[in-house]
Amino acid sequence: MNVPASKSSSPEETIHGHGLRMTDQRRAVFDVLMGERDHPTAVEVFTRVRAKVPNISLATVYNCLDTLTACGLVKTVAHERESARYCPNLEEHAHFFCESCGTVSDIPLRPRKQPQDVWNFPADFSISHHEVSFGGTCPKCAAKAAKQNRN
Ligand SMILES: [Zn+2]
Ligand SMILES: [Zn+2]
Repeated sequence: MNVPASKSSSPEETIHGHGLRMTDQRRAVFDVLMGERDHPTAVEVFTRVRAKVPNISLATVYNCLDTLTACGLVKTVAHERESARYCPNLEEHAHFFCESCGTVSDIPLRPRKQPQDVWNFPADFSISHHEVSFGGTCPKCAAKAAKQNRN
């Protein structure tokens, strides 16, 4: 079970809390995830990090991602049988998978709502974490489809 990072502490403090250091490589991987929040796979992270740290290996990127995930700075997103994707958004949110273009969007939980407010949980279940995903059509693909229908 991952320990969630507290929102007030910096990534450095969070990683120190786990007895680890924010190395340059971990920082570079974290910056890539924070930069473009499109839920990249490890290989996509590797491609982006290599632009800044040319000699980094894929194995190192995997190690950095494992460390950041274990420290609760990043979450993994699993979808069907695809490779894991990485998400640095620590707010409560669900993922929306576009069935047309494959993009993954963050869908925030409504303010002041908890999963228990939305899902009908029997009283004896205790929630430690939740992971919700939706599938459908993203706005871009919906607009494209609407345009095609007009022609
Ligand atoms: Zn996300
Ligand atoms: Zn789409």
